[in-house]
Amino acid sequence: MAVQTVAGNATTASPDLGPAAALSCRECGERFELGPLFACASCFGPLEVAYDLPTGSPEELRKRIEAGPDNIWRYAPLLPVPADVADKPNLNPGFTKLVKADNLARELGVTGGLYVKDDSGNPTHSFKDRVVAIAVEAARAFGFTTLSCSSTGNLAGAVGAAAARAGLRSCVFIPHDLEQGKVVMAAVYGGELVGIEGNYDDVNRFCSELIGDPLGEGWGFVNVNLRPYYGEGSKTLAYEICEQLGWRLPDQIVIPIASGSQLTKIDKGLQELIRLGLVEDRPYKIFGAQAEGCSPVSAAFKAGHEVVRPQKPNTIAKSLAIGNPADGPYVLDIARRTGGAVEDVTDEQVVDAIKLLARTEGIFGETAGGVTLGVTKKLIEAGVIDPTLTTVVVNTGDGLKTLDAVSATSQATATIKPSLDAFRAAGLGTA
Ligand SMILES: *Cc1c(COP(=O)(O)O)cnc(C)c1O
Repeated sequence: MAVQTVAGNATTASPDLGPAAALSCRECGERFELGPLFACASCFGPLEVAYDLPTGSPEELRKRIEAGPDNIWRYAPLLPVPADVADKPNLNPGFTKLVKADNLARELGVTGGLYVKDDSGNPTHSFKDRVVAIAVEAARAFGFTTLSCSSTGNLAGAVGAAAARAGLRSCVFIPHDLEQGKVVMAAVYGGELVGIEGNYDDVNRFCSELIGDPLGEGWGFVNVNLRPYYGEGSKTLAYEICEQLGWRLPDQIVIPIASGSQLTKIDKGLQELIRLGLVEDRPYKIFGAQAEGCSPVSAAFKAGHEVVRPQKPNTIAKSLAIGNPADGPYVLDIARRTGGAVEDVTDEQVVDAIKLLARTEGIFGETAGGVTLGVTKKLIEAGVIDPTLTTVVVNTGDGLKTLDAVSATSQATATIKPSLDAFRAAGLGTA
C-alpha cells in the first residue's frame, strides 16, 4: 500500500500551534515542519508532535494550570494549540469527573483506592471530544474547510458537533451497521454522514484513498492526516487524572484499546508530567482492555509477539472494533515496559460489567466501559492487578448510545394498575 505523507493541500503559512515545535518520527526520530503530515518521509513511521515545553519551575506551571479554565485548555501550555485557544469556538471538553468508586472497590476487593475517570461527561458523551478539540485547532491552523474522519461511531458524533461549533463543514464515515444511538448522534449535528458497506478497517482504507484524491482536497481527517495532533488530546486524560489525585501518579490505569492511540498518549502524558516535575517520578503500570471478538493486541500480548496480527471484528463493543490497530505495537511495548498487561473479555462479561458499574456507582457506561471494567475485574481475580494499589479505570463513553447491549435485561421490575393492592400483590413495598 502506498503511504501518503503530504496530504490535503491546505494553506500552511507557519501555523501558530503554541508550544508545538515540529513533528518527529516515532521510529527514526527525523523531524518535519508542522503540517498535515502523518507518516515519516524516510521510514513511513508514524509522526508525533514534539514540543518546546515550559521551562519555569513546576510550582509556577502547576499554579498556571490550576488558574486555567475547567476544561482541557487549562493544559494549553502542553498542547499543540495557540495560546488564545480558549477564546475560539470549540466544544471545550474535558475536566470530567474522577469518581472515587468505593462501592465498586468493596465489590472487587480493592483496598488501595479505586477510581473511575468518567469521560461520558464530555459534550458528545465520549472521550473523543478531547482528540477532536485539538484536531479542530490544527485544521484551523492549516486552513482546512471540511472536517472528516473514519469512525467506529463516537468519533463521527464528536467531529459533527465540533465542526458545527467551529463553523466548518463536516463529512464523516462510519461502518453501515452501527448502533442507532451512534448513528443519530453523528447525524443530528447536520453534517454529512456516510455509511460504508464494510467494517471499520474498510472505512479507514477508503478514507486513506480519499485523502489522495481531488475529491478530498481541503479536508482535514482528524484521525488520518491530522492524527499527530488528534492523538495529543488523549494526553489530557493523563493530566486530569494526576491533577485530580492531587498531582500524583496512579499506580495502575486500565484503558480500552481500539486503534491504541488513547493508551499510548496517556503514557506520553504521564511521562511529560514526570519530566516537568509536576508529579513524583515513580513506577506506574498500564493495562489495555479489548473485547474477545476483537482482540488483536491482547492476542499478541499473550503470545509474546511484537507485531499485531489483524482480526475480523465480531463483538458488541463496536466502538473498539478495529481489527488492524495502528498503534498496536506501541501498546504492547508500553504494557510490557510498565509491567502492565493486555487482556480481553467476552461480550457476556462486557454486559455484566456495564451493569456492575451502574449498580455500584450509578455510572452508565457504554460497551467500551464494560470492556474496561470487565478486564479490570478479570485481572484483579487473576492477581495481575494489585488490589492494594491505587487503580484508575477509564470509562470512555455513555451507555445511552449502546442501549441494545443491556435493554433485554434492564426492564421494569413490574407493570401494575395504579393501586396499592396491585403494588402489594407484586410483592413490592415494605413487608
Ligand atoms: C475510540 C474509542 C476508544 C479508543 O480509541 P483508540 O483508537 O484506542 O484511541 C475507547 N472508547 C471509546 C468509547 C471510543 O469511542
